[in-house]
Amino acid sequence: MHGALMDAGVEALATEVTPKVYRVLIIGAGFSGIGMAVRLRQSGESDFVIYEQEAGIGGTWWVNQYPGCACDIPSHLYSFSFEPNPGWSRRFSPQAEIRDYLAGCARKYDLLGHMRFNTAVASLRWLEQRALWEVTDAKGGVVFAKVVVAGTGALSTPDYPQIPGIERFRGRVFHSQRWDHDYDLNGKRVGVIGTGASAIQFVPEIQPAVTRLNLFQRTPPWVIPKPDRGFSPWEQRLLGAFPKLQRLVRGLIYAAHETRVLGFVFNPRLMGFHKLLALNLLRRQVKDRALRSQLTPRYGIGCKRILISNNYYPAVAQPNVALITSAIREITEDAVITADEQQHPVDALIFGTGFKASTPFPRGMIFGRAGQDILDAWRDGPQAYKGTTVAGFPNLFLLMGPNTGLGHNSIVYMIESQISYVLGALRTMAEHGVSSVDVQPEVQQRFNLLLSKRMQGAVWTLGNCKSWYRHPQTGRNVVIWPGFSWAFRRETRRFDAEVYQLTRAEVEVER
Ligand code: NAP
Repeated sequence: MHGALMDAGVEALATEVTPKVYRVLIIGAGFSGIGMAVRLRQSGESDFVIYEQEAGIGGTWWVNQYPGCACDIPSHLYSFSFEPNPGWSRRFSPQAEIRDYLAGCARKYDLLGHMRFNTAVASLRWLEQRALWEVTDAKGGVVFAKVVVAGTGALSTPDYPQIPGIERFRGRVFHSQRWDHDYDLNGKRVGVIGTGASAIQFVPEIQPAVTRLNLFQRTPPWVIPKPDRGFSPWEQRLLGAFPKLQRLVRGLIYAAHETRVLGFVFNPRLMGFHKLLALNLLRRQVKDRALRSQLTPRYGIGCKRILISNNYYPAVAQPNVALITSAIREITEDAVITADEQQHPVDALIFGTGFKASTPFPRGMIFGRAGQDILDAWRDGPQAYKGTTVAGFPNLFLLMGPNTGLGHNSIVYMIESQISYVLGALRTMAEHGVSSVDVQPEVQQRFNLLLSKRMQGAVWTLGNCKSWYRHPQTGRNVVIWPGFSWAFRRETRRFDAEVYQLTRAEVEVER
C-alpha cells in the first residue's frame, strides 16, 4: 500500500540507526490495536509492531477481571464488522468471552508475530529531522516508528481517590480493574467505594459471599433493566449459516441504539422513556421507601452513563448490605469514617471509583514538535481533530481519542471509523511521498469550537451532574462525541489531507 518514496526513506534511515525502524507502531492490544493491526494486514502492510504492556491480548477485557464483568452493549454489535461471531453465548457477553474473541482475531489474522507483550511504552519523542517517533519502552529499549497509533483506551488508568488516612488501612485494598483474586472475600466485611458501571456488576456477585457489604455511594446511578439472555445452539447455527441475517441483526441493534442520540444531544426530554424504565425498575425491586429514595438519582438521566442491571438493586436490598450516602471523611486502620461521624469497620476496601479519563497520558510520556509535552498542549483538557490527530504531534493517531466516546452505542463502531481514517492518512503519505502529517492548529481549534457548541444543548451539559466526561478544571466535555455515530463515520471516511501540514523529510510540500 505504501509508495516507493516512503519505502526508500524508511530503508535509508534503517541503515543509519541501529534500532529497528517500523513503519507503524501500535500501542495496545485491545479492540483499537487489534482492529488497526487487522486492517493494516488486510491492506498488505506487514511492517508493524504492537506494544502491549500486559501479558496477553484484550486490553480492557484482559485487565478487568472482576466478578460479573460483562459488556453492556450487545455482543453482535460490540465486535468487529469484519469479524462477525455467530457463536456469542449471550446477548451481553462476559469478559472472558470478549477477551477470547480478540485473541481469536489476533490468531486468525496472523498477528501474534507482531506482538511485544509485557512491553509498556515509557515515552514517545518526535524527531523532526528524521520525521520519526523515537519510542522508548519501560525496560529502556528504543525503536523508531514512522507512524504511531495509540490504542491505549480511554479508561485504562485507574482513579484511586486521595482519601485521608488510606495509607494507614491495614486490610486488603484493590481497584475493580485489578481485582485481587487471591483474596477470599468469604465471611469478610467489605467496603465498596463507588456505584458506577463496574461496581453495579460486581456488587451482586460478591454480596452473597461477604458477611457485610458497606456500599459507599456518592451519586446514585440511573439503572434500567438488562434485556439479557443466552443464545441457543440453533440460533448460533442459524446466524453462522446466514451471514446476511447476522448483519441484519447487527444493523437493527445499531439503529435501535442510535435513536438515543435524539434525547442525549438534541432534546434531553426525549429521555423520558428511559427515566420511566429506571424508576419502574427501582419501584419493583426495592420495597423499602427510604432505601428507594437514597437510590433515586436527582440529575438528568443520560448525564452520566445509563447503567443496565437486573440484579444490582436486589443485591443492595439484602440485609447484609448497607448503603452509605454520607461522604467519606477518612480511613483508619480498620474502618471508614463518614461525615456523619459514623465508623464503618471493614476488612477490605474495593475501589469501584473509575478511571482518569481526562488525563489519558501521564506527563513526560509524549513529546511532539519542539519537545512539547502533550499535556502542555492539553492545558485545557485533551482535544484533537476528529478525535484522532493533535496539532504539533505529527504522525500520531489516537484511537478512542478525545470526544470519540459514546453514551449510546458501540465504541467499536467509532474505533473502526478512526481506523479507516488512519489508513487513509497512510495511503496519502505513501502516494505523495509525504513523511509527516500534522493537522493545522486552527482547523483543530475550529473543530473543537463546533463540538463545544453542540454540547451546549446536550444532556451532559444540561443534566446537572458531575461526570468524568468533563475536564475537572475547565468543565469541558472531553470524552463524548456529541452526535450520531454515523455522522462521525462520515467525517472520518476520507483522510482530509488539505487541512494538514504535509512534509517530506526536509521540505514542506503543501499546506
Ligand atoms: P465510574 O462509572 O466512573 O464510577 C465511579 C464511581 O466511583 C462513581 O459512583 C463515583 O461517584 C464513585 N467515586 C469516585 N470517586 C469517589 C470518591 N472520592 N468518593 C466516593 N465515591 C467516588 O467508573 P466505573 O464504574 O469503573 O466505570 C467507568 C466506565 O467504564 C463506564 O462509564 C463505562 O464506560 C466503562 N465500563 C463499561 C462497562 C461495560 O459493560 N461496557 C462495564 C464497566 C465499566 P460519582 O458518580 O459521584 O462521581
